[in-house]
Amino acid sequence: MEIKTAKFIGSCTNTVKCPSPEFPEYAFTGRSNAGKSSLLNMLTNRKNIAKTSGQPGKTQTINHYLINNNFYFADLPGYGYAKIAKTKRQQLEKMIKKYIKGRKNLVCLFTLIDSRIPPQKIDIEFIEWLGINKIPFVILFTKTDKLSKTQLTKNLDIFRNELLTTWEYLPDIFFTSARDKSGKKKLLNYISMANNTFF
Ligand code: GDP
Repeated sequence: MEIKTAKFIGSCTNTVKCPSPEFPEYAFTGRSNAGKSSLLNMLTNRKNIAKTSGQPGKTQTINHYLINNNFYFADLPGYGYAKIAKTKRQQLEKMIKKYIKGRKNLVCLFTLIDSRIPPQKIDIEFIEWLGINKIPFVILFTKTDKLSKTQLTKNLDIFRNELLTTWEYLPDIFFTSARDKSGKKKLLNYISMANNTFF
């Protein structure tokens, strides 16, 4: 599959005000700076569909895009950004979680993890929450161009082992790079196949 059209539909802060759930939806989240905006641009062949910001943590609404007139991408605010006041951060996290739990047409939540850094408590806890709440999700290991194959395998092992301390089985993990566009085809194929199961 190729993404031919990506139309911005609107911004919202809760499920009630979001576009009606008539299309399958794929949502993107992750710690601020994990590479979410860059990945969305890469997938949709845009330079700036979601403003690739030098100021992480800026997006504080849920932004919907209708892709190929066929499915939604939902760009969720990044979580855990230290420069936002704690109360605001907690509010955002509550909003994200409420949305994820309540969105009926959510086919898959893409949870972005920066492949270069060791497992972060906030990510592990978030993934645990996804499991407890039976949210369909996969993990995207981002910025893989920054690592050698050996380093990437090593970081993946560390991450997997961390998850295995609480998980019996592991979620799917995709490798992506917005820089060299790796992972794009696999991810779009995954979406294309998942779309077929929606209707
Ligand atoms: P967001 O806060 O999750 O939306 O992250 P951004 O997409 O704004 O990216 C944060 C920083 O990481 C920016 O400086 C990007 O240029 C950089 N970045 C994002 N994706 C990649 C990638 O795949 N490879 C490399 N080398 N850098 C990336």
